[in-house]
Amino acid sequence: MAENPDHCSYAELFIGGRWRKPAAAERITVISPHTEEPIGQVPAAGDEDVDAAVTAARRAFDDGPWPRLALAERMGKVADLAAIYGRHIDGMADLITAEMGSPRSFSRLGQAAGAASMMHLALAAARDFPWVERRQGVLGEAHLRRAPVGVVGAIVPWNVPQCLIMPKLIPALIAGCTVIVKPAPETPFDALWLAELVEQAGFPEGVVSVITGGPSVGEALVRHRGIDKIAFTGSSATGRRIAAVCGEQLKRVSLELGGKSAAIILDDADITKTVTGLKTASLMNNGQACVAQTRILVSGRRHDEVVDALATMMSSLRVGDPSDDATDIGPLVAQRQQQRVQDYIRSGQKEGARLVIGGEDSPAERGWYVLPTLFTDATNDMRIAREEIFGPVLTVLTYEDEDEAVRIANDSDYGLAGSVWTADTAHGLEIAAKVRTGTYGINMYMLDISTPFGGFKQSGLGREFGPEGLDEYVELQSVLCNGKLPPL
Ligand code: NAD
Repeated sequence: MAENPDHCSYAELFIGGRWRKPAAAERITVISPHTEEPIGQVPAAGDEDVDAAVTAARRAFDDGPWPRLALAERMGKVADLAAIYGRHIDGMADLITAEMGSPRSFSRLGQAAGAASMMHLALAAARDFPWVERRQGVLGEAHLRRAPVGVVGAIVPWNVPQCLIMPKLIPALIAGCTVIVKPAPETPFDALWLAELVEQAGFPEGVVSVITGGPSVGEALVRHRGIDKIAFTGSSATGRRIAAVCGEQLKRVSLELGGKSAAIILDDADITKTVTGLKTASLMNNGQACVAQTRILVSGRRHDEVVDALATMMSSLRVGDPSDDATDIGPLVAQRQQQRVQDYIRSGQKEGARLVIGGEDSPAERGWYVLPTLFTDATNDMRIAREEIFGPVLTVLTYEDEDEAVRIANDSDYGLAGSVWTADTAHGLEIAAKVRTGTYGINMYMLDISTPFGGFKQSGLGREFGPEGLDEYVELQSVLCNGKLPPL
């Protein structure tokens, strides 16, 4: 591929490990969320490109060397990729900031460095993973072998793009799968740059493809009979549709979907520390985080104090150019997203919640900005309490006692994340056991990329990270023997 120093202009797709001209002439123009000016273009793949990528991946899986290499050799190649990637963390962070407006303070650590760590942690998990084991069965000793699941289609959204590709691509590659990555049309550049790095690492033909495009490209991948497994992150609505197609074809599927997480502030919590913790837990990445703690549950006894402290913290946040290191809140990814968040703010007011700070007016003449916005006097049946807003908007709900707090936290279609803030961590653990979410924080909410992550209820199926993240890319084969098995 030709020199492309800023990684913002691609004429070709990465199909089967080679740069190829797309079948169709259609292009995607990426618009800067800060300036509203175009920043570059990529091809929009067509059905023929999807088919070419799947055919290459199928051939590489069925007949190529990759799944047949020794595990150590595959891990060595992934480690080469991790080493190359590690040299580009700052550049990758800046590219993601340009594409989707994540403040640089977040995109360094929470996007690019996080993605690099995911590669190393997946390699570490693979070292201890039980690829083969022996078990005493009723008929004799059984040999259990974990085989690669096959050709994987990895479909991701735009909010933390590299951190969503890595927990799919890397464990799949280590397991011996071949992979086709489909990024969101808002963030194609980071994925195509990753393709360049994959090319430099030198994977065998067909093992990795990156094809850019919108929902129709994702849909074509999901429907393609050559794919064995879809690994998807995105909205619950799309996840439901993908699961239906996969169900019809009995294709493996894992889903990381939306959330509407509740932060329960108990009466014994230190409010200053709690609000400092919520600054990140609720508002990271401009509030565009599936795990954002956006329902703030507080008792009537401490309501005013918490609302005042939240309002002070949120008004002090610096809103502006995401490439400025001092910025806390950048623009939302797209005008469509800004309008969606503004619509939620209007609906909160219409439904009778009280706007404490912020509002629907954009603070800038240019760029898709929304001010940090705080609602209180809300009830859990309002749209701002039930639906995922995906912007810097928090809703305070009041509870009478802890049972009611837990009931409100659980009264949600989602079950992705949650947190409790208390002076008594043992009690925090008791609260965690009552809340139906895949991850939980006591006096914090951060995602630990070495522990299993995924959702209860409509927040998904399956887990990423740790050995459980590898489980998603293997099929378990039991081998029985009429005679003695050789030692392992
Ligand atoms: P989305 O579901 O609209 O799109 C996600 C991806 O799916 C994109 O690449 C899109 O092009 C593709 N797509 C859309 N329709 C498709 C279809 N019918 N078939 C196949 N692919 C299709 O998601 P979004 O609204 O852009 O992203 C935000 C959502 O992602 C939020 O709901 C957020 O909570 C969720 N998310 C979840 C996690 C998690 O780990 N649980 C992490 C980040 C984001």
